[in-house]
Amino acid sequence: MAETVESIRQQVQGLREEATAALAAAGDTPTLRAVQDRFLGRRSGVVSGLLKSLGKLPSEVRRDAGRELNVLKREIEGRLEEARARVEAQAFAARLAGERLDLSLPGRRPPRGRRHPVTVVREELEDIFIAMGYEVYEGREVEDDYHCFEALNMPPDHPARDMQDTFYLEGAEGQRLLRTHTSSSQIRYMLDNEHPPLVRIICPGKVFRRDDDITHSPMFQQVEGLVVGPGITLGDLKGSIEAFLHALFGSQYPVRFRPSFFPYTEPSVEADLGCIVCGGKGCRVCKGTGWVEILGSGMVNPAVFEAVNSRLGGAVYDPEKVTGFAFGIGIERVAMMRHGIDDIRLFYGSDLRFLEQFRG
Ligand SMILES: [Zn+2]
Repeated sequence: MAETVESIRQQVQGLREEATAALAAAGDTPTLRAVQDRFLGRRSGVVSGLLKSLGKLPSEVRRDAGRELNVLKREIEGRLEEARARVEAQAFAARLAGERLDLSLPGRRPPRGRRHPVTVVREELEDIFIAMGYEVYEGREVEDDYHCFEALNMPPDHPARDMQDTFYLEGAEGQRLLRTHTSSSQIRYMLDNEHPPLVRIICPGKVFRRDDDITHSPMFQQVEGLVVGPGITLGDLKGSIEAFLHALFGSQYPVRFRPSFFPYTEPSVEADLGCIVCGGKGCRVCKGTGWVEILGSGMVNPAVFEAVNSRLGGAVYDPEKVTGFAFGIGIERVAMMRHGIDDIRLFYGSDLRFLEQFRG
């Protein structure tokens, strides 16, 4: 069939009307896609087919026919765009109309967290000491042998190290370990040139040992304290510790001191508190004695001051001029006594049934 420009124009006009009507009638996305395929589809689209067949037309017809077809193609593309926007707006409006907002439904409350019982006790201890004029100093959890043992009068062969076996880490900077007590922070504090005596600090934080049973956890928390200055005596130690324990448990409980041993204090004293469960009559918790061991303490061993002094290369902590006392208390132990808990591992089992019993 011989094509003329006129016959092409008629075809184009027919297709234009057909496409316009189809697009106007299309009410959803699948129908729009079908219309697009019918006219512009690469393989079977009518307009695409005609464009492909242009090559067979005589050259005098080809140019005009090509222009007509391209105009048509762009027109259909433009109308498709409009139809798509219309269909999407209609779908959105329909969805909105179908949705009901029920304002009477109760809201969803996120579960309310609370502070861990050990954190509550730790903050309480800090508050008591801050009120007594102490500074809170945290130090670091990963330590070296010098700060954790050596400077504290525990040379490599010292038997007390066995009781504080911990976790060792090998690294580029040599051996590191997880601190077994926060006493290492006291050494760090004194070695810092910014901190000459008078010293009055507490060092709260996590410590680590290779123990795991109902009264020992491989990770637990301590608060240790250090007071250094000229003329500090055992009387200062006893008075301060008594004031602290009375602030924490109540002044109705008696405090007593017994001789003890720690490598870094001399003399060393253990403090006992009148049993808060039985009031001193004797029970299972105090093993019938009426007393509960609560805290270790002592006068700082001069060897510790000497170690610090020689590192500082001066006489800032001259054991002839300054004395001091130190003490340490397990935070979980206080929380266990206060709440009547007999297994330390409950604190770190992340069991919400246990943790939700505490206000905080
Ligand atoms: Zn008791």
